[in-house]
Amino acid sequence: MSKKQARMSPAEYGAWKRAWECYSADPKWREDFLANPAKSLSGFFAISDVYAAFKALGMVCQGKARDRSNPYYDEFMRRYEEIGAAVEAGLGEERFADKRLFRWNRMVLRRARVERRELILQEHVRFFPIVFELSDGCREQCPFCGLAAPPHKGDFLATPENRALWREVLVASCELLGEVVGEGGCYFATEPLDNHDYEKLLADFYDLVGRYPQTTTVLAAQYPMRIRSLMGQMGKERMGLAALRFSVRSLREFHRIMAEYTPEELADVELLLNNAESGTTYSDSGRARGLDLPPGKRRLCYSISCVAGFRVNMARRCVAFMEPELPDEACPTGVRIHEEQYFADVGEYRRILRDFSARFARDTLPEDAPLRLNPQVRVEELENVMVFHGDGVSLRLGGNIHFRRAVRRLMEGAAALPEIFRELGISPLVGAGVRQKLELLYQKGYVRLP
Ligand code: SF4
Repeated sequence: MSKKQARMSPAEYGAWKRAWECYSADPKWREDFLANPAKSLSGFFAISDVYAAFKALGMVCQGKARDRSNPYYDEFMRRYEEIGAAVEAGLGEERFADKRLFRWNRMVLRRARVERRELILQEHVRFFPIVFELSDGCREQCPFCGLAAPPHKGDFLATPENRALWREVLVASCELLGEVVGEGGCYFATEPLDNHDYEKLLADFYDLVGRYPQTTTVLAAQYPMRIRSLMGQMGKERMGLAALRFSVRSLREFHRIMAEYTPEELADVELLLNNAESGTTYSDSGRARGLDLPPGKRRLCYSISCVAGFRVNMARRCVAFMEPELPDEACPTGVRIHEEQYFADVGEYRRILRDFSARFARDTLPEDAPLRLNPQVRVEELENVMVFHGDGVSLRLGGNIHFRRAVRRLMEGAAALPEIFRELGISPLVGAGVRQKLELLYQKGYVRLP
C-alpha cells in the first residue's frame, strides 16, 4: 500500500467495519451475506464500492490472500500498522527509566514466544510494565473472564484524599519507570466503568502522564452517554490509536450496540466479539477453562494477560509483580504473581516498586536462583550441536562436554549455576563458556527461573 494513499472517510470505513463485525458476530447475518452479499451490503449506504467491500471481507474474515489493492483492506491494514507502530514506539527502551525492567519485560516476551508460536504470529503483542486497577474486583463476572476477576467489593473513588494519593502514585511511577507508564491501562481484572469516578481519575492520569491509556469496557450498551463523553475527553487523535475497545458479551448486546452507535462513531473503536456465536477464541484460562464451548469454537492456549511488571490496585492499595504464564492447573489464570505488598503512602509505594524491580526483574542469568529448562522446550542432542526446540522456533548451540552435561543436568531438574559447576567438578573459570551459553538460553527464553 502506498503511504501517500488518502485515508478513507470514517463514515465509509465505519460502514465496512460494521459489515465485518456483523459477519463475525452474527451467524444469521453471515449466512444471509454468503447467500447474497450484494443484498446484505446494500444497507450500508456509505459503502461506495460494494464489490470491493465484499472482496475485503473475504480477505479479512476468511484469511484469503490479498491479490490486488483494495481500498477497504488497505484502510484496515493502514490502521492496523499505525496502531502497531504506536504501541512499539510507546514501549521502546528510551521510554523506560528502569532499563532493567525493560530488558526483563522483553525477555518475558521472548520466553512467551518460545512457548507459543501464536505469539510470534501476532507481531504487535507487547507486555505492559505497569497497569492500574481502580476497583477492588469486578461487578460484571463475565462467564468467559480469562482472569477470573473476583467479585466486586468497592471502588477507588475520587475523594480529595484518594485523588491526592493517586496523583502522587502517578508521579512516583513516572519517575521510577519512565514515560512508559502512559502505555498501561487503568484496568486489569476490573471493569473500568464500574467506577463512577473513572473519568475523573483518567483526567488526572492525562494531566500527569500526558496520555490517555486504553479503555476496554463491557458496558458500552449500558452507558452510551459516558462512552460518548469519554470519546470527547480522549479526542480524535488518541481515539484513532485504539484508545477505546468494547467487549461484547452476547449477540443481544451486540445488536444493542449496533442500534445505539452509528458506524462512523465506532470507526475507531475495536469490538472484541466475545459472544458465544462469534468466531473469536477464548483463552483457556480463568472462568473460560470450565466453559462448554459451542462446536467449532477454538480455545487460545496462552495467557491473555498483557502485563510483565507491576499491577497497582488503588482500591486495595496493593502492588503485585507479575508475568504471563501458559494457563494450566497450577496457574489457571495464566498470571504468575511473584509477590504482593500493601502500601499506606507514596513513600512505601516507591520502596515497593524499587524492591520488586530489583528482586524479580532478573534481566541476566542469576547466580543465586535455581535455573530450569523451560518445560515447553525439547532438547535434541546431535553430534556437534544441541538443538533447543520451542513451539515453532529453535536454537542450535555447539558446545564442549561441560555444556552438554550442564544441559543434561537441567533436564533432570532445577539447579543454580554454582551447584551445576560443583556437580560437574569444574571451576567458574573453566565453566565460563558454559555460563555464556546458559546466559544466551536464558535471554532467549529456553532456560528460565522456576
Ligand atoms: S472480562 Fe472484564 S468485565 Fe468481565 S469479569 Fe473479567 S474483568 Fe470483569
